[in-house]
Amino acid sequence: MLGGGFAGSWVARLLGKRGATIVNPDNFSLFTPLLPEAASGTVEPRHVVVPLRMMCPHADLLLGSVREVDLEAKTARATSLVGEVELEYERLIVALGAVSRTLPIPGLAEHALEFKTLADPILLRNHVLRRLEAADAASTEAEVQRQLTFVFVGAGYAGVEALAECRDLALDAVRYYPRLRDAPQRWVLVDAAPTILSEIPKRLGAYALRHLEKQGVDIRCETRLSSAERGAVVLSDSARIETETLVWTAGVKPNPAVNDLGLPLDDRGRIVVDETLLVDGRSDVWALGDCAAVRNRGTPDRVDPPTCQHALRQARALSRNLRRLATGREARPYGYRMLGQVATLGRHKGIADALGLKFSGFVGWWIARTYHLHQLPLFSRKLRLVADWTTALFFRRDIAELTTLTSSARPAGNRDVAPEEDTDRAPGQARD
Ligand SMILES: Cc1cc2nc3c(=O)[nH]c(=O)nc-3n(C[C@H](O)[C@H](O)[C@H](O)COP(=O)(O)OP(=O)(O)OC[C@H]3O[C@@H](n4cnc5c(N)ncnc54)[C@H](O)[C@@H]3O)c2cc1C
Repeated sequence: MLGGGFAGSWVARLLGKRGATIVNPDNFSLFTPLLPEAASGTVEPRHVVVPLRMMCPHADLLLGSVREVDLEAKTARATSLVGEVELEYERLIVALGAVSRTLPIPGLAEHALEFKTLADPILLRNHVLRRLEAADAASTEAEVQRQLTFVFVGAGYAGVEALAECRDLALDAVRYYPRLRDAPQRWVLVDAAPTILSEIPKRLGAYALRHLEKQGVDIRCETRLSSAERGAVVLSDSARIETETLVWTAGVKPNPAVNDLGLPLDDRGRIVVDETLLVDGRSDVWALGDCAAVRNRGTPDRVDPPTCQHALRQARALSRNLRRLATGREARPYGYRMLGQVATLGRHKGIADALGLKFSGFVGWWIARTYHLHQLPLFSRKLRLVADWTTALFFRRDIAELTTLTSSARPAGNRDVAPEEDTDRAPGQARD
């Protein structure tokens, strides 16, 4: 199994005692729907990951990154903690996921924070809290305003939820900064699409838009980021926004590691599979999740979008098919119709489209949380999450920022930062 993320970990778990060997850079699977709550401090970052050895007790785990596959010799090479390792396989499953899609926008790579890995919400939370500290120490109104301006580009799930959670965190935190209590905060959400959350039903998207606008979020649809520089961003309508915070959540693309596997790819770089998730032209390689273009009987007009819900359903279908093939039966086509979608919009606000019924506000928020809790594997993980949520009901958010911790413990694979740089800032941004 190449990749132990949402799709890979579920296939391995569902294969049970049949066993699997998972190759993954971390010993956990990341539960991304809870990343925004980790950014606001409502949920402990450790509680949004599931240890693979606990989730898949019958699987072997090799901590490492796959470099290449020899499809004829049936071997995969990986870089592991003990150097290069060669693994033989009988059946290969590719679930390498996606990476952030960046564009060649001047200054983007140097100045933007991302929101994809476990480290990202921790860095973003520290960054937001540092902006409050910087604003508190600033000597001019203009500088206070610049520090308290936050720009998010990308109004899909990740961008909308991350903005809503970080905004709640900042509003909670200013209670402890008497100088900033009356200072206006500016939260800007930018997207090239005509509306936000274009992937969910219109009515719910419109509710989310109204809710965020009522909260004072400056939403700029049909607008692109043109450039970023130290202390400012420029948008396609020529607006220049003075800010120290640019968060980039404008989509994902298939993991480029799939380019080196010798498998057929579509025009977007996704592995081409048939309806049973078998890779085109192969009889021993399957692919699923964000790195594959998966055809779905339930929605014949398009391939599956990159979501956890689809990755999970594909994992179920594939594990069933692998069991069938092992007992000499034929694989069955995969088909799934989404029963709903949920998103949280900060404290006690959310949207849910469940079984054709649409909910917003507190009920939407409650359904979104219940759904995430239901999807999270392992009873012990669910319990830790409920404990975090319960604590958050009674206490205000913790405002300790742990920049020193993250600067000495930055995980491998995240964007390189020069050792002397503050890791709470987007690389290249000014030191306070
Ligand atoms: C911030 C954020 C919020 C999201 N919120 C939602 C949501 O609310 N609802 C929803 O349905 N979807 C959501 N998604 C989308 C969802 O996370 C993905 O669709 C899902 O994780 C896809 O599963 P996957 O297994 O294909 O990829 P992943 O879960 O990304 O797993 C890929 C795995 O491959 C590993 N890997 C990478 N390179 C290598 C290599 N060379 N060798 C070995 N292993 C490697 C990675 O470390 C990772 O563990 C969100 C995504 C993000 C980023």
